[in-house]
Amino acid sequence: MADDYYRVTLPESEIPTQWYNVIPDLPEPPPPPLHPGTLEPAGPDDLAPLFPMGLIMQEVTGDSYVDIPGAVIDVLRLWRPSPLMRARRLEQALDTPAKIFYKYEGVSPAGSHKPNTAVPQAYYNHAEGITKLTTETGAGQWGSALAFACAQYGIECEVWQVAASYRQKPYRKTMMEVWGATVHPSPSNVTDYGRSLLAEDPDHPGSLGIAISEAISMAAANPNVRYALGSVLNHVLLHQTIIGEEALRQLAMVGETPDVLVGCTGGGSNFGGLALPFLREKLAGRMSPVIRCVEPAACPTLTRGVYRYDFGDTARTTPLLKMHTLGHGFIPEPIHAGGLRYHGMSPLVSHIHELGLTEAVAIDQSECFAAGLQFARTEGIVPAPEPTHAIAATVREALACKQSGQSKTILTALCGHGHLDLASYEAYIAGSIADFDLSDEALAKSIQAVPVLT
Ligand SMILES: *Cc1c(COP(=O)(O)O)cnc(C)c1O
Repeated sequence: MADDYYRVTLPESEIPTQWYNVIPDLPEPPPPPLHPGTLEPAGPDDLAPLFPMGLIMQEVTGDSYVDIPGAVIDVLRLWRPSPLMRARRLEQALDTPAKIFYKYEGVSPAGSHKPNTAVPQAYYNHAEGITKLTTETGAGQWGSALAFACAQYGIECEVWQVAASYRQKPYRKTMMEVWGATVHPSPSNVTDYGRSLLAEDPDHPGSLGIAISEAISMAAANPNVRYALGSVLNHVLLHQTIIGEEALRQLAMVGETPDVLVGCTGGGSNFGGLALPFLREKLAGRMSPVIRCVEPAACPTLTRGVYRYDFGDTARTTPLLKMHTLGHGFIPEPIHAGGLRYHGMSPLVSHIHELGLTEAVAIDQSECFAAGLQFARTEGIVPAPEPTHAIAATVREALACKQSGQSKTILTALCGHGHLDLASYEAYIAGSIADFDLSDEALAKSIQAVPVLT
């Protein structure tokens, strides 16, 4: 390939046909989820009321590779393989000797990486006779991805959208409805838990943890209904590894290996999806990139949370997950990156971080929006607020290269576009984006509620 390329594209015939499971390659496996009543490891039967067996088996698999069903690949082909882009115009604007690459997932129908897992999740549910899926959505990306995927298989989709986001982002709701989903603001008046919260505060802004509790309660009560989670769990990260597998091939096409890999972490799925195939290469000694997680300073799970067993939801209904957590009752300040406002982190990403295989940094949203704007003005794409965190960390790294004169190769995930997040850019341009100080006292109080298991 000539050396002046912008886009590195794979032919459709080279869509990966297997997902990669990093767990067998790790020095030790991550601690298992625990049943909240017995505190024994949660087995497949404990998860069966919520997920179909096909996904539960992927959640616990010890295989290194899992075949992607042909019928799933046929849907993924609507947008995959996604392009790998060389950010030459951003490099020029930063006057850096670094080479910046981004893997762009905004080309999917819903505009983010989320359909990479929504499609197989809908597929396995449909294959087991499930007629309806429930879920939560914060920023609206996951709800729209699942609504799209359910439409592909003719199953119903019911979404609890965090109330603050439901009010701020009416077009995300419309998008879900276009694909046939039913959308409730959360807390809602259709579940007991939602009604109890609305009785306390009719204007309750909601949170991801609350919306998860509502969606789970509806699925658990109905035999033909299951629940779908858009991040955090092993099977979700497994499905997202298609991102990193493609990126590995694309970088090889232009003769590059990354020195630094950067991704934003909300629940860990776009980061894991890009990073885990590269971690395999690193563990095998074939390359040695620094792998960096970027999170919002207002929701600093990896950098300031504790690594303990905690609940995945606010009503304490999920299995206990060993993860970095800010406490299941933690309600982050209303930063615009709604997808990064989760109190916990993928247990797999948490475990890998504890093993010392990754780094983490927290960045304030004003620095992220500045980087997002610079990216839009150079590369053209308006990033979603979540990946502006990865872009801000990429800019930091590229400027450090300018200082040191090193020409590092940086790879990042541009996991979604921001076309339905323009209100946040409007606020940034108007100068009304605030940063939030999360005090040690407030954090300590929230972490106190995390059970201490011996
Ligand atoms: C959901 C979402 C995130 C956060 O989730 P991860 O599992 O951490 O990837 C980040 N960016 C976008 C665009 C999202 O839709």
